[in-house]
Amino acid sequence: MHQIQLVDLRTQYHKIKKEIDEAVLNVLDSTMFIGGPEVNAFSEELAKYLNVKHVIPCANGTDALQIALMAIDAQPGDEILTPSFTYIATAEVIALLQLKPVFVEVDPKTFTIDVEDARQKITDRTKAIIPVHLYGQCAQMDDVMDLAKEHDIKVIEDTAQAIGSSFTSKDGSKHMAGCIGDIGTTSFFPSKNLGCYGDGGAMMTNDDELADKLKKIANHGQRVRYYHDMIGCNSRLDAIQAAILRVKLRHFDTYLQARNQAAAYYDAAFSKVDALEVPFRANYSDHGFHQYTLKLKKGMDRDGLIEYLKENDIPANIYYPVPVHLQKGYAQYGWKDGDMPITEELTAQVFSLPMHTELEQAQLDHIIEHVIKFIEA
Ligand SMILES: *Cc1c(COP(=O)(O)O)cnc(C)c1O
Repeated sequence: MHQIQLVDLRTQYHKIKKEIDEAVLNVLDSTMFIGGPEVNAFSEELAKYLNVKHVIPCANGTDALQIALMAIDAQPGDEILTPSFTYIATAEVIALLQLKPVFVEVDPKTFTIDVEDARQKITDRTKAIIPVHLYGQCAQMDDVMDLAKEHDIKVIEDTAQAIGSSFTSKDGSKHMAGCIGDIGTTSFFPSKNLGCYGDGGAMMTNDDELADKLKKIANHGQRVRYYHDMIGCNSRLDAIQAAILRVKLRHFDTYLQARNQAAAYYDAAFSKVDALEVPFRANYSDHGFHQYTLKLKKGMDRDGLIEYLKENDIPANIYYPVPVHLQKGYAQYGWKDGDMPITEELTAQVFSLPMHTELEQAQLDHIIEHVIKFIEA
């Protein structure tokens, strides 16, 4: 058995080494490092894969969120609804732009935004809602879109963990994650479901005008060089990363399948264990399993479990140990312990097991055996 890793990028690379090396060497030889044909081709290929009109690449998933908020003209003091149970980036860009993050509870089963709670928190300053497709599964986007329409607010989908997942609407139509709201954002951080070998990100939209604006903002507010129509920033996907992503996009469906197979194998073992809640599968979304996250029964020793797994060469992690509304850096917004019971409970009880495209059965068996051994001891 090979050593178990949370994410095994090396084994994956070695399987496609020839394709990747050739793609990277081609860029080196072209010396087109910024922009150019690889970046354009990748954007077009991803747009085709997602069945969306525009994919605008940028430097990372955090920038994608920031540029999206800039593109909808959010003004200082405007309120942005977003779950507290997310990676910090989602809230960080809101704060950075001097907007006001308004934290929303999550559904206790899906761990994605509780739209009823969002509804309660809408005011006349609410500008947008940012649902997060956490761990690889879509938020209930029918409800999000209904709420947004009712109150005329924008929807930015944080798709960093769920690129490639699809959402089935009430009317039966299927849509790729990130392509339902006004703008979708994603990250190509190496460990993400579609990861490059450095930093990268993108924004998706079906709106021509927004696409134009997103592109402009990511490029110093200019369409014509040295003529700056607005204040923008500098956020680009470089050509080496784009070339790598083009290769990985060709394998992407296989990768998603591998993640789902590993998840199904975990599910089969853990659904029999009383003290564990396996990931809930919403009937309106498929699951990209960016993380395989279990909920441990209240009162069980999560730290002890993670320590025990470590001793047995099994890395496990907690996404996320502290909800955003209780982070020290966010104290200025005035939230306190007890404001979000479901989110707070999840941060105390969830843990994630190794999940990637290269998990071997012997590794899965080893992980399962030790999780169960600890729990039943
Ligand atoms: C990874 C991630 C981001 C940020 O992506 P970076 O490329 O690391 O900037 C944003 N939101 C969520 C939910 C993420 O998981």
